[in-house]
Amino acid sequence: MHKIYIDGSWVNSSSGKTFESFNPATKKSIGTFQQGNAADARHAIDAAYDAQKKWAGMPAPSRARILFNIRDLLTKDKERLGRLVTTEMGKILPEGLGDVQEAIDIFEYMAGEGRRLFGHTVPSELPDKFAMTTRLPIGVVSVITPWNFPIAVPAWKMAAALICGNGIVWKPSSDTPLCAVELVKIFEKAGMPKGVVNLLTGPGSSVGDELVRNRAVSGISFTGHRDTGEDILRKAGVKRVGLELGGKNGIIVMDDADLGLVVDGIIWGAYGTSGQRCTAASRVIAHEKIAGKLEKLLLARIAKIKIGDGLQKGTDMGPLINEGAVRKCEKYIDIGKKEGAKLVCGGKKGSASGHFFLPTLFTGAAPDMRIAQEEIFGPVLSMIAVKNMDKAIEAINSVDYGLSSSIYTKDMKNAFRAICEIEAGLTYVNSSTIGSEAHLPFGGVKGTGNGVREAGITGIEEFSSIKTVYFDYSGRLQRAQIDTD
Ligand code: NAD
Repeated sequence: MHKIYIDGSWVNSSSGKTFESFNPATKKSIGTFQQGNAADARHAIDAAYDAQKKWAGMPAPSRARILFNIRDLLTKDKERLGRLVTTEMGKILPEGLGDVQEAIDIFEYMAGEGRRLFGHTVPSELPDKFAMTTRLPIGVVSVITPWNFPIAVPAWKMAAALICGNGIVWKPSSDTPLCAVELVKIFEKAGMPKGVVNLLTGPGSSVGDELVRNRAVSGISFTGHRDTGEDILRKAGVKRVGLELGGKNGIIVMDDADLGLVVDGIIWGAYGTSGQRCTAASRVIAHEKIAGKLEKLLLARIAKIKIGDGLQKGTDMGPLINEGAVRKCEKYIDIGKKEGAKLVCGGKKGSASGHFFLPTLFTGAAPDMRIAQEEIFGPVLSMIAVKNMDKAIEAINSVDYGLSSSIYTKDMKNAFRAICEIEAGLTYVNSSTIGSEAHLPFGGVKGTGNGVREAGITGIEEFSSIKTVYFDYSGRLQRAQIDTD
């Protein structure tokens, strides 16, 4: 039975309750986990509060050495962890390995920040006075994460939080607690001082709620559903809150696009990870001149997608995360049909041995249909035909989300219009909506987020606080705005 990790010890929850995690491809249990509660969360927050002071007192390059150790251990263990991601979350093994690689990349990148963590030095308006900024940690940070990137998303947050000198209490999704336990074991092995990182498995309604409301917590970094994010924002009070929420990402295909490239990108974007990436493409906005041809090409490729257990070689698409996700897809198939879109393939469950759902394509969708507006988070793609670039931009921007986007065109003007006019945090030109790199900022606009950008140099902004320092060595009172020339 797996434990929770508080103040450097693996312990049972005071709730005395447990829950199980299941392999979505086989529905078999893969372990029993502690159902943490609010009391455990308070205990973990106290531990992080005490440990954080020492951690912040350590020079950042020394903190970085532990982050480099984590990178090295993750690299050594990549195959085992990748298989674990596939077993617990369902994505195919190459993607499971990719999940771990993202964590390796971000730990390497953020460890490098240990020798930067730049502030600014600027001239003062007064003589014999220095003016500069420096970075301080926020304090204790609650990290609350989803199941779809069970190693990468927590790593993106924790690598940045750690290099900035924060203490962490992490609550992973109850669909992927084993990945969390194994990641924390690696932190422990890398030499992380006790109390700096604490892990609580358990429900959002008790553990998560305490992590959000507790006044000893100064920052919250959350990735998950928009509804959960909005709820957190209402309860957090005066805390730094970073929200990375849902998406309804679109791919624009213009009539001059290379359709071979487009089909590769759509198949990867819409059906990779069974459509369960936050950046997955769920809408194709195709120029009407090529929409029919594109539909035929897509159908031919969709027919070849091999669905099954992601650990088996040759599988292209794994299961959905759980039964609820399958039911949600079924619900949207009904909605799409009633709205008048044409279901041209898929639309139903796959093998009953796991939570499988067939790759699905709707054509004849209108931008305002619910299937084209709401996040389904499964392999359900809607195609919308448009007359021209103006209509394509209008359609892609018609949703209340703004994470990723893409355009396929050979026309430079349309490419730059997409870059400037699409309301999203990411725009890809002649590539799909997915595939972020650790050294570039990641995040969305509108309903997808509240302005935070994770990863890259902006990653440290979420987890550090700027202090402005005035150092006056004039030996007299100098008044800003008054004693200037
Ligand atoms: P979710 O919101 O159901 O859960 C996310 C986490 O929040 C889990 O750990 C859950 O236990 C916890 N939680 C639930 N209720 C809570 C509460 N009241 N207080 C505190 N914590 C609570 O989301 P999910 O199903 O795990 O993840 C899928 C969603 O995540 C999708 O909407 C997807 O688009 C989004 N996502 C976004 C990004 C991004 O970067 N924008 C990345 C990955 C996933």
